[in-house]
Amino acid sequence: MDCIFCKIANKEIPAELLYEDELVVAFKDIKPIVPVHVLVIPKEHIESIAKMEDKHEALAGRLIMVAKKLAEQLGVAEAGYKLLLRVGHNGGQEVPHIHLHLLGGGKMSENIRVV
Ligand code: AMP
Ligand code: ZN
Repeated sequence: MDCIFCKIANKEIPAELLYEDELVVAFKDIKPIVPVHVLVIPKEHIESIAKMEDKHEALAGRLIMVAKKLAEQLGVAEAGYKLLLRVGHNGGQEVPHIHLHLLGGGKMSENIRVV
């Protein structure tokens, strides 16, 4: 499987890992767009939220709870942060393996529009 996030989850390529359990891995984004930029991914290769099935409900919850706890550990919970899931082409998803962005460390713009 030639998937960069599967390779990170399998430790085949390096990343700054912040968290790991039986379902998910979290690591620093290689090109942070804000001071705190973490990706939380399932260990299982699932292309996008659009490919999730009912059996993944607990996994979906785990992604959010891990992001919430990392926000606390990284000191951005009180000021607030953004959780972002891009889905498919129009959503701007570039890596076809589910990843939840945890974004914090400053107030962010709301620059969402159709281009
Ligand atoms: P998206 O546009 O939502 O698909 O986001 C993909 C994200 O993955 C971008 O923020 C990239 O900077 C990040 N990314 C790509 N390759 C790596 C990598 N090897 N390690 C960490 N983050 C990565
Ligand atoms: Zn993958």
